[in-house]
Amino acid sequence: MTSLDSLPLRADLRGATPYGAPMIDVPVRLNVNENAFDVPEVVVRAIGERIAEAAGALNRYPDREFAQLRERLAGYLTGVLAAEGSEQTISPAMVWAANGSNEVLLHILQAFGGPGRTALGFVPSYSMHPLVAQASGASFIAVERDAGFGIDAETAAAAVAEHDPDVVFLCTPNNPTGNSTPLEVVEAVYAAARGIVIVDEAYAEFADEGFRSALSLLPGRERLVVSRTMSKAFAFAGARVGYAAADPAFVDALRLVRMPYHLSALTQAAAIAALDHTADLLAGVRALVAQRRRMAAALEGLGFEVVDSDANFVLFRGARDPRALWQGLVDAGVLVRDVGLPGCLRVNAGTEEETTAFLTAVTALVGQERQTTQTTDRSAG
Ligand SMILES: *Cc1c(COP(=O)(O)O)cnc(C)c1O
Repeated sequence: MTSLDSLPLRADLRGATPYGAPMIDVPVRLNVNENAFDVPEVVVRAIGERIAEAAGALNRYPDREFAQLRERLAGYLTGVLAAEGSEQTISPAMVWAANGSNEVLLHILQAFGGPGRTALGFVPSYSMHPLVAQASGASFIAVERDAGFGIDAETAAAAVAEHDPDVVFLCTPNNPTGNSTPLEVVEAVYAAARGIVIVDEAYAEFADEGFRSALSLLPGRERLVVSRTMSKAFAFAGARVGYAAADPAFVDALRLVRMPYHLSALTQAAAIAALDHTADLLAGVRALVAQRRRMAAALEGLGFEVVDSDANFVLFRGARDPRALWQGLVDAGVLVRDVGLPGCLRVNAGTEEETTAFLTAVTALVGQERQTTQTTDRSAG
């Protein structure tokens, strides 16, 4: 069999590992931050109608500028600002969309990163940020977050000034830790940066009251871009729709690197139908936040340290053997994520039943572990 090493692969991709969340078929899957709720029936019907309409014209290329979708997304983002009490608006010219926000990020890195350039991120954070940077040919500089996974404005600005990257990633609420970064930090990082600043707000809709979107910082900051996705809060991961807002000139730069007609007519139709039913799709968000709180409280009750989360998942620390705990949960039919942080596992808020299944399994496993250690301690003593 041919191995990767025998192919004339780009030198900078040698030894790299692909994104690889395990796909294991168990009853309760709480590992890739999906929305636990199925798409509501009324939305399923609306998508079906729109897709049927689009299907008759599939002999033609789709609207390359996805004008209708950009208009809907601009309206949604303007609503986000209004909910924060702002009168600012996001115009369709400020909006970009692609096949998942991963592709939005790739477009940004292709335009502003690339060979010989650098991207900087505050780790631990989303594992795709370095991969997307490297895929564009840029190298990735990892700056450590503090012990509580926070980012301090002064330290972050100093790191940016020191490394002078072409692109900075800020992820808030952050994956895999769940905590948010205050807007003062975004402002400080932007002020210190010469390059592009990406604020990845994939989980913003799950955040508590005090959260403020970086959308409000866009006016006058032409190097700032806020990326979002329909994959999480909108329960639309399978459709692959991500989007971003930035200065219209920034959006023009992305047109230089995208493949023509990158958003299929079917994707555009499905996304527009979904955005016609924003309230129905977002109806599950508060229920998931309630389950996240329930999960966090129960895990703390079991003696774990839980990072304050504004997302649809929590990171908990203090597992003696996270790998064994992960396997024990899989054996009990519950899939969570080992994100590779010492003593930590990440778990998504599920439906009430899924959350109960996880909590029941983790309680039993922790109980077994304590019993084993006590027995070992006794026999050793
Ligand atoms: C899930 C996620 C995304 C989005 O992915 P899509 O490509 O839109 O499905 C982006 N950023 C972060 C931090 C994520 O966790």
